[in-house]
Amino acid sequence: MIVMKFGGTSVKDRAAIERLIAIVGRAPQPVVVVSALSGVTDRLLGIAAEAAAGDIDAARGNVKALRERHHTVASVITDDALRKTVIADLDKEFDELDRIVGALAVLGDVSPRWFDTIAATGELASSRIVAAALTAHGHPAAWVDSRTVIVTTDEFMAAPPIFDRTDTALRAAIEPIIAKKRIPVLGGFVGATERGVTTTLGRGGSDYTGAIVGAAIGADEIQIWTDVDGMLTADPRVVDAPQVAPHLSFAEASELAYFGAKVLHPATIQPAVARDIPVRILNSQRPANAGTLITAKRPTTDGAVTAIASKTGVTVVSITSTRMLMTHGFLRRLFEVFERHKTAVDVVTTSEVSVSVTIDDRRRLPAIIEDLTEFAEVSTENDLALICAVGDGIAADRTFPVRLLSAIDGVPLRMVSQAASRRNVTIVIAASDLPTALNRLHDRFFGEAAAPHVSSDAPAFYISSLQRGNE
Ligand code: ADP
Ligand code: ASP
Ligand code: MG
Repeated sequence: MIVMKFGGTSVKDRAAIERLIAIVGRAPQPVVVVSALSGVTDRLLGIAAEAAAGDIDAARGNVKALRERHHTVASVITDDALRKTVIADLDKEFDELDRIVGALAVLGDVSPRWFDTIAATGELASSRIVAAALTAHGHPAAWVDSRTVIVTTDEFMAAPPIFDRTDTALRAAIEPIIAKKRIPVLGGFVGATERGVTTTLGRGGSDYTGAIVGAAIGADEIQIWTDVDGMLTADPRVVDAPQVAPHLSFAEASELAYFGAKVLHPATIQPAVARDIPVRILNSQRPANAGTLITAKRPTTDGAVTAIASKTGVTVVSITSTRMLMTHGFLRRLFEVFERHKTAVDVVTTSEVSVSVTIDDRRRLPAIIEDLTEFAEVSTENDLALICAVGDGIAADRTFPVRLLSAIDGVPLRMVSQAASRRNVTIVIAASDLPTALNRLHDRFFGEAAAPHVSSDAPAFYISSLQRGNE
């Protein structure tokens, strides 16, 4: 069995869904997971925001536009009777959305719970269309309602799955469909609590659904079909001609995803690791290309770096002990504050009296600062970016950090850190310096002049001792 997850651009219109059908039609025992049509989740969240602002006309107008777009795309269902059924189902979905949005606009308030119900419409609609389109093109498929199989907590907008319940429900739903030689089709991103309240796994979460399904049914491979040729050596929106990384280890892929390589949701690798299932990233517009294969171990290569991830929107929080010394228990107290406010800390550096951490979720920052101020002085800096060079070969390459820093000579650095795993070196800089710094680094390690570096097995030195790693 192969789980095939198709992202938003891979289902964005009739032509894209026809490409999907050709790809799925060739696969042995596929299980299909799809995102919402591209741009739809953003539009739905926009509608929720309009409802919260009480702008009923704008919200309803956008619901109407989305309904029409789905009707147009449903023309890919070439069987008249099937298409009529799906359009009736879509209309029910959009009627319900219209009612909810109307009611919320009157209240002028949208809670996270309702944000999820609204956002889920995208994947519920796209998956119905894809299931019927496959059947109409001679590949009998069956739609599975993700709300009945992906069981999550009630942490709306980024709800973690409850794995034992989810695995059991997934197997019970999918195995009988496969036994009947049909293709199960599910919407990604969407789940529900044990009591049946709709939730979502967080932005980009359809990849995660793909991996959860793959692990539950013991798939031979999890395929992530997207709009690029695989994991690229840098973000193609910042660097002109990045190359495809042909093979990554689970640990490398996980760090790249966590530190900003959007092509993979950061949680995707976790279920694959648990069952040792290979993950492949492929381009739905160029299906013949090999893509990127991700497995537990990868063959060793000459270069220390496999790829460079980056992200903007990073905030540094600097916390200085008011006692002029890092007293016993200071770090514990400090990290407890972030834990209490459910805010992940990405990079950490320490000096004698102060600790700097980066976060990218600022929602609870005021409360965090208030709690920290009880025992420390706190300052924050916004508009920063993070660049993270990742490679299993970094650990054995003592000169790597120096070569990395010399490539960006002149760019002011805010933080530098080498992970405990010694699989990455991360720098934090002003967001405005990101294009220059990333292009120079990419040129240094992947450009024409980048000579393969001979690794030594001497231990790397630590620039900083603390950073999230996989070990
Ligand atoms: P999908 O809708 O298929 O899930 P996403 O937009 O979530 O696709 O992810 C694919 C995008 O990720 C690419 O179009 C690219 O712009 C971006 N991206 C950022 N960093 C990388 C990288 N290192 N390799 C590949 N793609 C990347
Ligand atoms: N549609 C969702 C989003 O845009 C989930 C996904 O595409 O992975 O975030
Ligand atoms: Mg994605």
